[in-house]
Amino acid sequence: TSRIATVSAVALVCALYLYSKRPQVEDGPPRKKKNIAQLIGNTPLVKVQSLSRLTGCEIYAKLELANPGGSAKDRVALAIIEDFEARGLLRPGRGDVVFEGTSGSTGISFAMLCNALGYTAHISLPDDTSNEKLQLLESYGAILQKVKPASIVDPDQYVNSARRSAEALSKDPSTQAMGVFADQFENDQNWRVHYRTTGPEIWDQMEENIDIFVTGSGTGGTIAGCGKFLKEKNANMVCILADPQGSGLFNRVNHGVMYDSVEREGSRRRHQVDTIIEGIGLNRLTHNFKIGEKLIDYSIRVADVQAVRMAKFLSINDGLFLGSSSCINAVAAVQAAQNAQKGSKIVMIACDSGSRHLSKFWKQASEVSRDVTLEEVMSVS
Ligand code: PMP
Repeated sequence: TSRIATVSAVALVCALYLYSKRPQVEDGPPRKKKNIAQLIGNTPLVKVQSLSRLTGCEIYAKLELANPGGSAKDRVALAIIEDFEARGLLRPGRGDVVFEGTSGSTGISFAMLCNALGYTAHISLPDDTSNEKLQLLESYGAILQKVKPASIVDPDQYVNSARRSAEALSKDPSTQAMGVFADQFENDQNWRVHYRTTGPEIWDQMEENIDIFVTGSGTGGTIAGCGKFLKEKNANMVCILADPQGSGLFNRVNHGVMYDSVEREGSRRRHQVDTIIEGIGLNRLTHNFKIGEKLIDYSIRVADVQAVRMAKFLSINDGLFLGSSSCINAVAAVQAAQNAQKGSKIVMIACDSGSRHLSKFWKQASEVSRDVTLEEVMSVS
């Protein structure tokens, strides 16, 4: 009997061992999803091998371009829609319209999500918006209102125009449909969704070990939300704002003053930034940026020419085909690495892919030599 008991015990242990080694569901492909909104977030983090090797640090890119709408803005658009739904201001199937003023990725995210969730997207945008973005918005069938580029203080500027249109629809007695103004620059849902999702994902993917976080600011939502979460986890982590030429945020962060020059103050276009980089850089302070401002340790200013060369460098050396703001972040990450201890772990955001920037940024980047070196990338001449 004792031999039978021993054999049974061994068999049981073996069975338990084999059971514990069975293929895990999480190891397989993701489970089926109800709609495209459920594909948002949980984006990959990848080591940028070339930059890591050449700087002696570990540089990682958080690939927000892997969201279904192609950028981090999917997270923000979904959070804003869910908040309006929770407050009873949006209901599917009633003809409700989400209004936003944007020339960028946010419009594309709203266009995609409104179609999936039973709403209409109405996007006001400057009439010089790039063709790729216009074509995407048209493909999603969003209602587009093109306005002349103007300063934010101008009532006809695209953000102001979106706000007015939303109010007009909600007050229209001839329809039940409601209009909401998404207001990504001022809306708390923006930084909060990065605090709730992007920040924790990075912390987890980095195995709770990150020394430096680098990103730019368009609305400020990403740097505020991720910066706040990551600093709460590691108060010694350094948070760096990557800023394109012509943006006032660099001076604001490093010197406490907003404007590049006195001339810019009086200019009608003073809120526009003189750069080919899209989506980041600003000459005004937004609510989302203000939330993150005190968390930023310092800012690195990046010239367009550096970002353009970096785009080609990463494409050739790593197979990473990135958009303009991602390349600004990569240049700043390298500069941060050059000033940091060897082995420092650095995370940058890869906001969107190069395919959205073919006609402008990548037109220049594609002409850069495939043999461009990192020294040449970092040189401003
Ligand atoms: N990159 C791109 C391509 C963007 O569209 C944006 C958002 N405007 C950003 C970066 C900056 O993100 P945030 O608005 O969270 O500052």
